[in-house]
Amino acid sequence: MRHRIAVIGGGPAGLTFARVLHRHDHPVTVLERDPAPDARPPGGTLDLHEKLGQLALDKAGLLAEYQALSRPEGQAMRILDTDGTVLRDWQPRPDDRANPEIDRGQLRDLLLGPLNVQWGRGVTEVVPGTRDGVLVHFADGRQETFDLVVGADGAWSRVRPAVSSVTPHYTGVTSVETSLDDVDIRHPDLARLIGDGSMAVYGANRSLVAQRNSGGHVKVYARFRAPLDWHTNPGRHMGLNRRAGMDTGLDAGLDMADVEAVRSSLLALFDGWAAPVLDLLRHGTAFVHRPLYVLPVSHTWAHVPGVTLLGDAAHLMPPLGVGANLAMLEGAELAESVAAAPGPGDLDEAVRAFEEQMWVRAGRWAEITAAGLERLVSPDPAEALAVFDEVQPA
Ligand SMILES: Cc1cc2nc3c(=O)[nH]c(=O)nc-3n(C[C@H](O)[C@H](O)[C@H](O)COP(=O)(O)OP(=O)(O)OC[C@H]3O[C@@H](n4cnc5c(N)ncnc54)[C@H](O)[C@@H]3O)c2cc1C
Repeated sequence: MRHRIAVIGGGPAGLTFARVLHRHDHPVTVLERDPAPDARPPGGTLDLHEKLGQLALDKAGLLAEYQALSRPEGQAMRILDTDGTVLRDWQPRPDDRANPEIDRGQLRDLLLGPLNVQWGRGVTEVVPGTRDGVLVHFADGRQETFDLVVGADGAWSRVRPAVSSVTPHYTGVTSVETSLDDVDIRHPDLARLIGDGSMAVYGANRSLVAQRNSGGHVKVYARFRAPLDWHTNPGRHMGLNRRAGMDTGLDAGLDMADVEAVRSSLLALFDGWAAPVLDLLRHGTAFVHRPLYVLPVSHTWAHVPGVTLLGDAAHLMPPLGVGANLAMLEGAELAESVAAAPGPGDLDEAVRAFEEQMWVRAGRWAEITAAGLERLVSPDPAEALAVFDEVQPA
């Protein structure tokens, strides 16, 4: 008997789930809100860990293709002081395959392969327990019914309300991203500063991280502690910000679409840092504001037959290199369990057992990443260095 299965969201979680089901010859409907695979920039590079993301790709039969595409040299990590002194310069061994980097677009295309994704199908609501199964409502007014609906629709999941009333909350740390193109040709000094992988500079309550993607593209993340409305209502937080050593140079509100205004505000915020480091901001192109939200550590729910969640929809965490890895492994594990469940009762038992397993592992990582964010964006930059020394082999 074939269960009617839908996965909502074509990110790392949803595509891995669908790809592993496909490998088991089980039909699956993939419903994605974006109108096309390249409808928006895919985002920065991802490092896939041997025991998480790589294991998931192995379950999908895609490990060799990932190895051919990924960048082991991208594992290199350099830490600088705010005056530009190199404090750590870690290089992977040539045969190190623990966490090679891959561009998100490359990973998406690898997972898409033969999958028949339905693009432009934004889900608005999921209603479990109807006579014919789980009812899915779409933004265009259509509706469809399935035996199992898997919510892999990210941080602001529209599936999550069917199982849990919890919503993400702001961590107190925000992030402004920018990028540099053709760095080796256009900015050779910055290319040398960044090296083959990532470079991070930690100051009091703020950090700048630059990360190489393929083709000379570099993503830069400026992270700092700030109230959620630091840019729209700076006057209100002036005293608070100054006490925390944060001066955004703002008296009035900041239009985040005004590239030069955002650049000067960031340069004011990172004032006093070494000129070569600040060049990352001086040469950055557009700026994207992404406040960091999380779900509570150990987010669980009372099991609801016919609906479950994967990835960020289930356990949104600070972006410290593990979210996509967990999302993919969960997708692969759930797909294997579902493919091995012959009848309707077996399907529900398989999902229930999967959820228990996911909650334990995700809860552990949520704790680690929450503590990690506290230490990486903290009043004492030595904390960030200590985190690096704890996780990086000598
Ligand atoms: C700056 C940054 C760097 C990161 N670096 C790393 C890293 O190095 N390693 C790592 O493991 N993780 C990293 N992460 C975390 C990682 O990006 C996420 O954990 C991961 O993308 C989660 O995958 P997902 O499939 O659960 O959700 P998403 O990637 O958010 O995908 C959700 C998909 O669902 C679609 N969707 C949303 N709503 C609907 C709807 N209503 N109907 C239909 N479709 C919908 C979206 O369009 C999207 O395609 C990083 C995150 C950030 C922000």
